[in-house]
Amino acid sequence: MNDQVPSTLHRGVKILHDPVRNKGTAYTEAERDALNLRGLLPPRVHSMAEQELRVLGNIRAKPTDLERYLYLIALQDRNETLFYRVIMDNLEEMMPIIYTPTVGRACQEFQHIYRKPRGFYVSYQDKGRIREILQNWPHKNARIIVVTDGERILGLGDLGADGMGIPIGKLSLYTACAGIHPTQCLPVMFDVGTNNEKLLNDPLYNGLERRRVRGEEYDALFDEFISAAKDLFPGILIQIEDFGNTNAFRLLEKYRHNTCLFDDDIQGTGAVAVAGIIAAMRITGGKLSDQKILFLGAGEAGIGVADVFVAALREEGMSTEDARKHCWFVDSKGLLVGGRDNIAAHKAPYAHEHPYIETLPEAVKALKPTALLGLSGQPGIFTKDVVESMARINDRPIIFALSNPTSKAECTAEQAYTWSEGRAVFASGSPFRSVKIDNRTLVPGQGNNAYIFPGVGLGVIVSRSRAVTDEMFLAASHSLANQVTAEDLERGRVYPALSRIREVSALIARDVAKMAYDNGYTDKQEPDDILADVRDHMYHPVYPHYA
Ligand code: NAD
Repeated sequence: MNDQVPSTLHRGVKILHDPVRNKGTAYTEAERDALNLRGLLPPRVHSMAEQELRVLGNIRAKPTDLERYLYLIALQDRNETLFYRVIMDNLEEMMPIIYTPTVGRACQEFQHIYRKPRGFYVSYQDKGRIREILQNWPHKNARIIVVTDGERILGLGDLGADGMGIPIGKLSLYTACAGIHPTQCLPVMFDVGTNNEKLLNDPLYNGLERRRVRGEEYDALFDEFISAAKDLFPGILIQIEDFGNTNAFRLLEKYRHNTCLFDDDIQGTGAVAVAGIIAAMRITGGKLSDQKILFLGAGEAGIGVADVFVAALREEGMSTEDARKHCWFVDSKGLLVGGRDNIAAHKAPYAHEHPYIETLPEAVKALKPTALLGLSGQPGIFTKDVVESMARINDRPIIFALSNPTSKAECTAEQAYTWSEGRAVFASGSPFRSVKIDNRTLVPGQGNNAYIFPGVGLGVIVSRSRAVTDEMFLAASHSLANQVTAEDLERGRVYPALSRIREVSALIARDVAKMAYDNGYTDKQEPDDILADVRDHMYHPVYPHYA
């Protein structure tokens, strides 16, 4: 805790406008004297708990979630400590506002609701001087970057520079869920244009007015950005987020071996969904190797989950080739089978020999999967017929409708439970309310990547790992599944309650850090108690004393 009186630069009105140091009405009498704040604040000193009460009253009185989002971002801009206090004390209520689904709405409206800059913009115009401009970032201790080029924001498509809400929201979750210090977090919008005509025709659009840069020019610019970031912030962890799927797979492959970089849509989603399947086994019985998964959607998320699932089967001793045969895909062109035209490289390993099938309902009937995972962004595509088929084939069918935001979910929790007579083990990407069926209350699990990436990031940062590997994501997956309690499962929930997320993240960080020490990815000496070391690094939103 900083108990230094800040330099003259940070006295008086300046400290009130510094979101990192501002305490608002919570400055004590002594601090008001020491910091020249007399007269600049109303006389009554409030505790943080009282301030929180006021904030909650305001948020709850807002008519829409978008208004709540705006209120919270404004709070983050004026008093970061109080913002995190409110988020952390009320995570289940606030997470859907600062992240999916409301953040999706906010990105769609970004140019209209824009008030104040947040995060860092690297654009095509900055070519050749990214290192120079990156020095404008005020926090030299940045340890983690989340970067997007806005091409595939959640399931909402190309939102160009309006996608900035995503890195901002994700990094808020790093802090709220895993205690990574806010000043260590750097949100970046990599603006190379947009192909979204509506945005290009909107005079209020904030991004570059041009169509997307592609090919070598794109690659050179991204490379310049990565080199500058690594140079200015040694050891930085970089998360690539919501890139279009061709760039996402390509960039991940290009950088994963020489940069501490991962793609949350691919690896984070993989880890969280596989954790849900591992936990679901405790309800359905059987082993991972008994599962046949049918994925709807063979994009970043679907392939990411299959890859982690394959890694989990390999850990059980199965060959990669055999493990892949447990994963089947239906995409926009029907069942992915060998011989189908123009199969993208990332899908090829999962194109099995099988007669072609055109539709999902037919594929379910023919393949008889134990689990159906929706990662297609196609709302309502898990129809009554599909769910009923799954329930005929399986005593406890696993049905995860993971597309975000809520409006894109392949089916709702209520539909999955009702159409399967309450037997589905259901999880979704965005939150759904509990469902009452036959006097039982079923609580859908939220397969939210926030269960994984904050803990992985914390583990990498605390251990000072030079690498973030697939094995770390699988370790995180096991770690998360192990933290699902018997009581969670009793209620049908395959993920721990969100209210436990700080503890969940700390244990994931411990397991990830252990991999860094065991595999020599770090020069840091392994501490006697890794978990205690992790906890020591975690940020708590409490005000410093300045006098
Ligand atoms: P993507 O664009 O890379 O892939 C989408 C896939 O869906 C493609 O394979 C496409 O062929 C397929 N598809 C489209 N229309 C289809 C149709 N009518 N029938 C069958 N398949 C169809 O996108 P992505 O990154 O893989 O994300 C997909 C969805 O998953 C998004 O809605 C995203 O929000 C969601 N997601 C959820 C989580 C989570 O819950 N934890 C994490 C990441 C992504």
